Amino acid sequence: PARTRFAPSPTGLLHIGSLRTALYNYLLAKSTGGQFLLRLEDTDQKRLVPGAEKNIYDSLRWCGISYDEGPGVKDDGLGPFRQSDRAEIYKKYIDQLLETGHAYRCFCPKERLEDLRKSAQLMVPPTTASYDRHCSRIADDMVQKQLRESRPFTIRMRSPKIYPPFHDLLHGEIDIQMQTNANDVRYDDPILMKSDGLPTYHFANVVDDHLMGITHVIRGEEWLPSTPKHIALYEAFGWQPPKFIHIPLLTSMSDKKLSKRRGDADVLALKQKGVLPEALVNFCVLFGWSPPRNLAAKNHECFTLQELVSVFNIDHLTKGNAKVDESKLWFFNKHYLSRRLETETGFNQMLGALYELLLPEFPELDLYYLTKVLRAVGHSLESLNSFSDNFYYLLTKPRFRDNIYVRDFLQNQDLAQVLQVLEKLQGHLNEDKIQEQLASASNQLKIPKKVVFETTRFALTGSLPGVKIQTIVSLLGSSESNERFKEAIE
Ligand code: GLU
Repeated sequence: PARTRFAPSPTGLLHIGSLRTALYNYLLAKSTGGQFLLRLEDTDQKRLVPGAEKNIYDSLRWCGISYDEGPGVKDDGLGPFRQSDRAEIYKKYIDQLLETGHAYRCFCPKERLEDLRKSAQLMVPPTTASYDRHCSRIADDMVQKQLRESRPFTIRMRSPKIYPPFHDLLHGEIDIQMQTNANDVRYDDPILMKSDGLPTYHFANVVDDHLMGITHVIRGEEWLPSTPKHIALYEAFGWQPPKFIHIPLLTSMSDKKLSKRRGDADVLALKQKGVLPEALVNFCVLFGWSPPRNLAAKNHECFTLQELVSVFNIDHLTKGNAKVDESKLWFFNKHYLSRRLETETGFNQMLGALYELLLPEFPELDLYYLTKVLRAVGHSLESLNSFSDNFYYLLTKPRFRDNIYVRDFLQNQDLAQVLQVLEKLQGHLNEDKIQEQLASASNQLKIPKKVVFETTRFALTGSLPGVKIQTIVSLLGSSESNERFKEAIE
């Protein structure tokens, strides 16, 4: 069984890229009978965004991704699960590294580090993270003196000269060399503890994954360069590292990396747009994972979270960057909306939601009527939110003015014919006989059937596409339908 975790930083709204990471970790744990944990990585106080923490909990709950251990859930002694509450634990482990010499205090002032950084950039080739290890050489009594003087310090890891390659379950062997010129070794020596006494991501991440018994880490590719540092830390402690799986980035249609600070495709915003959680889960899981071949061969691509638990397998994760295609999301949404409408509970839920959505604009809306309407047209909807745009005419008189359909319609028809049809049928529309009526009008007037149908639809709806005329007339009733005919002539 795998023990996995999702470890978001509350630095913005949870977007679909992070949701996918959570989902894969959840599925790996659940499909192997293991546990899934939530850990909040909030030690970088400057980057915290108010409301982001709650947004993470709400988004996961809405998608049905529950965690066995995590903030506010359960604590068998491995918590707390919010890193800002774990300062004491990190202190204990950093002391251990200081004692064994795997870490040292750095008293260098900002200005000095800034100069080092600039000079590193001037090197050929330029190096980024590098430190000249000045503070690793200062004698112990000097360190004690500076401590007594309460000089601020950070704690750095004494990193290896060259980080050895490591194994990733998806990518195989990965080699990220920090320096190209072996004669001019620039040590990485990443900071583990900041001067505010809080750990950095690298340190807290490793300590926690170890203490929480994590067996597999599935995370975004952006963390690949950090992994050798993490592995070096595991080694410094003498701990066994978990297995790593770095999944490709999600890009938007314009090839840009999705960013949570820009609020790209954030989960709850999609909820507001009418996306159903089943649809979003299904949409996300397919970016970087493909169903087993026997299912893929049958074009089977719709999976609920529960179904995914039984078919998910990390061997089917894929490597290429995944482009987000929104139309696919609406395809799934339509599918799951239809599925919900098929069950009584689902139907009533959707009915309630639609009623609430429409009420502000249509305060007189009759719930009984809306029930009939949803039964008749629900299956053609991409989302409840698109109801009013598509079926406005079922709720109120059609909008004839400023309507692009009206313009198109009038341009494409012979007006004399249209008038003839309207006059012929005016006052006589009968919901039970409408098909025959239209056919016989076409015969008698010698006007093509298509024109008769389009004219009728136009008079009733103010638009051209839509549901069957018979359905419209039976929903509106004969008298409302006839009235619309009259109004269309005027
Ligand atoms: N806190 C990191 C993030 O926000 C976690 C990376 C990891 O899973 O190790 O993505």
